[in-house]
Order: sequence, then C-alpha cells, then structure tokens
Amino acid sequence: MTARILVVDDVEANVRLLEAKLTLEYYDVITATDGPGALSAAAREQPDIVLLDVMMPGMDGFEVCRRLKAEATTKHIPVVLVTALDGREDRIRGLEAGADDFLTKPLDDVVLFARVRSLSRLKLVMDELREREESGRKLGLTEGVARLKGSGGRVLIVDDDARQAQRIFDELAGEHRPVIETDPGNALLSSRGPVDLLILSAVSDNFDGLRLAAQIRSAEVTRHLPLLAVIDPDDRPRLIKALELGVNDILAKPIDPEELSARARTQIRRKRYTDFLREKLDFSLEMAVTDALTGLHNRRYMTGQLQALVARAAHGGDPVSVLVLDIDHFKAVNDSFGHDAGDEVLREFAVRLATNVRAVDLPCRLGGEEFVVVMPGTRLEDAHRIADRIRRDVAQTPFRAMGGKELLSITASIGVAATTGPFDTPESVLKRADEAVYEAKASGRNQVKARAA
Ligand code: GH3
Ligand code: MG
Ligand code: MG
Repeated sequence: MTARILVVDDVEANVRLLEAKLTLEYYDVITATDGPGALSAAAREQPDIVLLDVMMPGMDGFEVCRRLKAEATTKHIPVVLVTALDGREDRIRGLEAGADDFLTKPLDDVVLFARVRSLSRLKLVMDELREREESGRKLGLTEGVARLKGSGGRVLIVDDDARQAQRIFDELAGEHRPVIETDPGNALLSSRGPVDLLILSAVSDNFDGLRLAAQIRSAEVTRHLPLLAVIDPDDRPRLIKALELGVNDILAKPIDPEELSARARTQIRRKRYTDFLREKLDFSLEMAVTDALTGLHNRRYMTGQLQALVARAAHGGDPVSVLVLDIDHFKAVNDSFGHDAGDEVLREFAVRLATNVRAVDLPCRLGGEEFVVVMPGTRLEDAHRIADRIRRDVAQTPFRAMGGKELLSITASIGVAATTGPFDTPESVLKRADEAVYEAKASGRNQVKARAA
C-alpha cells in the first residue's frame, strides 16, 4: 500500500533526509519548509499523512496543525507531529491542537514506517466511510459530528499490575467510565460489549497482552475497537509487534497522566466518529447500490456481485448466466412522448424484469435503457428460456404511459452468456452477452441471442 506524505520542516536537510527514506519505501513525498507552504500544499495535494515539525520560525507546528484540523478540506488528514525527544509539553499541546500521532527526533526508521503504515490504513478506512457517506448524500453530517465528544467513554483497562491499573483508572475516572479487568478471558468477553476504548498492558505477568490484541482485531465484532497499548518504549520488538497487530496508539511506560487522558480522548472521539459514519452506512450503502429511477440494483452493485459469483463459478461452483437487455428504439419514445414518458417506460420495464426472474437473480439497470440480470446457478439454456419469457412479456402487453393516456408497444433485444470454466472473467461474460445483444439488434430486434464461449 502506498501513500502520499507531506513532509514539513524548516531545515532543508531534515526534509531531504525524510524524503529519501520514505521514497525508498515507495511512498510518494511532497515537501514544504514553512507553515503557510504546508497549509497550501495540504489543501492542494490532499496527502494521506502530514509529518509536521513542531519547531519552525513564524507559524509553528501547533498552529499549522490547528489550522489543518479547522479546515474542512484538510481536517480528515492524519497529522504526525515531530517533536524533540523530551517534548512532553509539546505532545500535550499537540494533542490539544488535534495531532493524531507523534514521532520524536531523532527519527527511528522502524517506528516511523510502522506509524506511517498504521495511519495510512486508518485513513483508507475513514476515506471509504466518508465516501459512502457522501454517496448517500445524507445531510446533517457536520451537526452530527459536532455533537461527538471525547468524554464519558466506556474504557476497559486490561492489566494485572494492580497499581498501574489503578493509576490509569484514577486518571480517567473524572472524565470517563473506566473498568479494570485482570483476566484476559473475561477481558475478551467484555470487549464484545459496549466499550469505547480498551487500554491494555502489552507486558503482564500472567498473560500476553499482544495476543489479546490480536484476538480482538481478528473478531468481527471487536475489529474496530480502539486499542491503546501500554508498552516500555525500550522494548522495541514488542513496540513494533503491537503496531503491526493494529494497535491504534501506544502509551509509553511510565505513564504520563496528561498524555494518557489526551490520547484516550482522541481515541474515543475518533471511535465515535467512525461509529457515527458506520451507523449511517446502512442507509448510504443502500443509496450507493440502488438505481434511483427504477429501484433496481445499479451498475456498481452488479459489478461487485458478478465478480464474486464468477470467482465462485471458476472454483467449481455453479455456473452464472448473464442477460443484457436493451430496449429497442427507445429514443423514439422520448422523441415522440417526452422524457417523462420515457422514464415511465423504464420503470415499467424494471417491473417486468423483476417479476419474470427468481428471487436469487439480480435485475440491475446499467444506465440509460440498458439492463442486466445476473443469474446465479443457471446454465446458458435455462437463461435463454427465461430471457425469452421476458422478451414475450414485454412485447405482448403494451406499456401505459402519461397516466394511461398512451399505450406504447415496447420491445427489447436480449443477449445471453454464461460462465464457461476456470478462466472466465466477469468482463468476458458481460462482453459475450453484449455481443449477443448486437446480434439480436442486427437480426431485427425483439429477439434473444445467446453467445457460447
Ligand atoms: P436501439 O434499438 O438501437 O437500442 O435504439 P435506441 O433508441 O433504444 O438506442 P439509443 O442508444 O440510440 O438511445 C437511447 C436513448 O435513451 C437516448 C437517451 O436520451 C435515452 N435515455 C437514456 N437514459 C434515459 C433516462 O433515464 N430516461 C429517459 N427518458 N431516456 C433516457
Ligand atoms: Mg436501445
Ligand atoms: Mg442503447
């Protein structure tokens, strides 16, 4: 997975060094050497991650971060602040400015790449969610997000070191609702309940915290639960392992209380944001897969389903058949009766299609007056028979349009194809069905033609 990274540092040599390292790992690098330059590059280039130096003359990293997070076009881009080694104050100010992560100078390559990888993975998920949100054109996102707080979170602390667990508990109890769990089995069960954040000790006396992290990541119900791992920063193998396992954030031992509460707040707010988007997903997803005019599945949905069915057929599953249907001389309907009458015909055509296929078949509108039916578990001969039934149903009964004022004779040309073996692809099956439609048109329309491989 490659990502575009904006590197910001006022020292040219630092920029070049980072650019060289990241480029070697196949990342796409953009650079800026001051705050205003960083802001305009971020807005213009839409990088996947910003690596931002804190100490810069003029506008410092905190200010740049604040402005990136305040701007609608850049607020979703993860920002990693690069601070001095003992920059505890910096880290807290950075979290307040909305930074997503920190790296300390001098930069450690392994940690750098692990962080960049995990942030670009997160960005990918967030982008996908935002994209679906937008495709659903559901309004009210901004008001909804404004209500999302980073406080009042249900935090599960998994640690068998009683004193450390208690310290974490005490620090969080003022703002959140923490619970301590010392047994990993119980922790795994509790994690399936209503939890906003799990803080786990990577090194416990009686259990392996990283194993628990892996179990939580691999289970469907807890896959998105934020994990904050408490790790000794000098234990580099475990640190790296934790990041590889998809731990969301790291808390270095000994735990700094302010850093703990700032990181917890960030994780909880982010969790609520993604939950919020996911909640809307069912709705948006439906919008994203449905053709607005006819209510049939759309091209996007059809493509995904066909892909899966053809792959299954290729691995010894049942054959899949595809019908491509194109209304004959449809342009003449629009030309003679208007576009609205044309729309009525398309809707009625969709109804005829849907009522003549089985429940497992997928009738779809590709666009215009072109439709597809994907038929799982259907051989070419059977698909041909069904296609002919549809053709007859369309041709026999005229279509009512304009409130019943007009009765229109409609016909369609239909092409049929079926998967043929292990090397067939969705594209080639569709292409054969398409060629068959042309054949049907060429031989006079209102016909069904099948195309064997
Ligand atoms: P053929 O028999 O060769 O398929 O001829 P045709 O007229 O059906 O095909 P052509 O592709 O020339 O015209 C398709 C027409 O469909 C042109 C376009 O304006 C119209 N059309 C596409 N989408 C819609 C729609 O959503 N509503 C309406 N009313 N018309 C549409
Ligand atoms: Mg047509
Ligand atoms: Mg056409």
